[in-house]
Amino acid sequence: MPRRENQRRVAQMKLCELLSAKHGLFVLFVGGGEVSIRYRFAVMSGIFLILFSSACTTTRSESAPIVVKRTQMQMGTLVTITSVAPDRRRAQDAASAGFQEIHRLEELISTWIVTSELSRANAAAGRDAVSLSRDTMKVLEASLQMARMTEGGFNILVGPAVEAWSVLERPTIPSDAVLQAVRPLTDLRELHLNVAEGTVYLAKPGMRVDVGGIGKGFAADMAVAAMQKAGATAGVVALSGDIRTFGGLPGGVKFPFGIRHPRHEEAVLAFIDLQDEAISTAGDYERYFERDGVRYHHILDPITLQPARDCQSVTVVARDGMTADGLDTGIFVMGRERGLALVERLPGVGAVIVDRDGKVWVSSYLKGRVRMNDGIE
Ligand code: ADP
Ligand code: MG
Repeated sequence: MPRRENQRRVAQMKLCELLSAKHGLFVLFVGGGEVSIRYRFAVMSGIFLILFSSACTTTRSESAPIVVKRTQMQMGTLVTITSVAPDRRRAQDAASAGFQEIHRLEELISTWIVTSELSRANAAAGRDAVSLSRDTMKVLEASLQMARMTEGGFNILVGPAVEAWSVLERPTIPSDAVLQAVRPLTDLRELHLNVAEGTVYLAKPGMRVDVGGIGKGFAADMAVAAMQKAGATAGVVALSGDIRTFGGLPGGVKFPFGIRHPRHEEAVLAFIDLQDEAISTAGDYERYFERDGVRYHHILDPITLQPARDCQSVTVVARDGMTADGLDTGIFVMGRERGLALVERLPGVGAVIVDRDGKVWVSSYLKGRVRMNDGIE
């Protein structure tokens, strides 16, 4: 991982501590005072503020569930797993199973790992088809479906254009000529997925698949399945801002989350409780640079190959992580109007969109569930 990325994550952890201090600990008493679980703020990814159990059981009865929380660096980001189980052993085992599953997937789909299936597919662009495991195939199929759903807003071939901008490494505004040169590499019709044979073929040399906009949501879903298999009754898997929950906290309490304000780094825009749902945020505030008062960030509109301009942040709630993660990026590109219209058509999907002027839009599925934080402007 680039050093600057590492530094950014460390800064986020510090911010997390700062927020804890600023907002204080939430203390919740469950089960008639027998179980005391402290909740506090934490920042995942800088996109998301999460409130979750910090696994403190001060006094508890024999039958009270255990909550364990662990954090590791995976997929180039901070991964936090909260695991609820009838006993500590099972809670720990389930958390370990979740991390192992994410590690397994990282080896398949990360383009930072040269031996991953997607790195091999990219290296063979213009030359050979490459065999894929069922899991990698699943991510690619979902990515193409997401591209159709978002009318091309979501596009896993934008990698060469993202590279041309290199928002993190050496902020540059690429010339039109440079962008035109990479445009043919972003054409999804040149990506040939053969599901029956389990292969992918990128037809032009230089083409590159990058599942950065959907892969973390997929990993969260798979980690949840692994945790359930290992005996967890509830939990949260958070890969920075891509988060999947299952079940509830002891006492039937839902998992509470805070959505970060896109322009006030330390502020919570709104709160929402989740149960058996995923939440994901795409924002223009995490990886960006500014030139002459214009903000250039890492989510590109595949039509213009320029940073998408209509939103500051898009938060999506869905039943699974892959849908939430893919949609936040795709809707960010589609913009507020078309994005909200899409969300209204999808069952079990909701969105909170902060548009370019800072106005907050909440889709009907989330109306009454999202509590705005009145403490900020
Ligand atoms: P993150 O949590 O890493 O910011 P996002 O879900 O916001 O992830 O997706 C951003 C990533 O997706 C970028 O880093 C880039 O690799 C990729 N990306 C950028 N533009 C698009 C796009 N239009 N469609 C799909 N992926 C994109
Ligand atoms: Mg995304």
